[in-house]
Amino acid sequence: MLDVHLERCDDKGERLRKMLEIGESFIISIPPVLLLPEHETFRNGVYPNDYYYPKEIVEVLEECAKNKNIVFGQQGYTHYCPECFKSKEKRDPWHENRCLYGDKKQVEEQLKIISTGRKIIEDKLKVTPYMYVPPNHQFDGNTLIAAKKAGYNYFAERAIINFAPYSDGDLIILPEGDIGSKTEVVYTHYDQMKGREGEYFEEIRFSEPLHSLDIKIKPVLAELNRGLVTARKIFRDAVKNF
Ligand SMILES: [Zn+2]
Ligand SMILES: [Zn+2]
Repeated sequence: MLDVHLERCDDKGERLRKMLEIGESFIISIPPVLLLPEHETFRNGVYPNDYYYPKEIVEVLEECAKNKNIVFGQQGYTHYCPECFKSKEKRDPWHENRCLYGDKKQVEEQLKIISTGRKIIEDKLKVTPYMYVPPNHQFDGNTLIAAKKAGYNYFAERAIINFAPYSDGDLIILPEGDIGSKTEVVYTHYDQMKGREGEYFEEIRFSEPLHSLDIKIKPVLAELNRGLVTARKIFRDAVKNF
């Protein structure tokens, strides 16, 4: 199954419409702030002032919302870390639930981020997102608790080691790898599909709906995978400073 992180829109929804017309299941994961053109992040320099979803994209999203094949994922609320944004030349700032450099966010604080974002998707698109996708795949134990409290059963994580979907406490974790990896769910960013539509559309054509996925018990190597994901993020920032 394909999870498309809809961030930078490099068209007016033509690709998204084609994906919808395939008539099979896929996941579309959205940072709620991109549904709010009036949001301060488009005026204070966090995002370019036209980075929010163009109205044509919103229209296709509304159609997706009415289609039972399409699963909505939520990526936080504003999808950035104010502290790391101040030193964005040195650190990637596009995380929200877990910062590798600041204090650990308590469950309540994370629940506020998740609930605020979830409500925006519900209000704007009249659909309840089904899966929580922590921005930049950065999360901790408190994110899992908060996502569950907010009403989620499905949660996406980055797969470095390939795993089948597995249960972790009350949540079903969907490890996401790159297209071509052996994970049940593969992910990409919308603008990265450009020029490779055939490959991605093929993935949608053969996708199995979420409810038919076989859920395993938590693999022994799951925590190692999480550690590797974190190590790779730290390494990515270290290279920036080199
Ligand atoms: Zn940060
Ligand atoms: Zn993202």
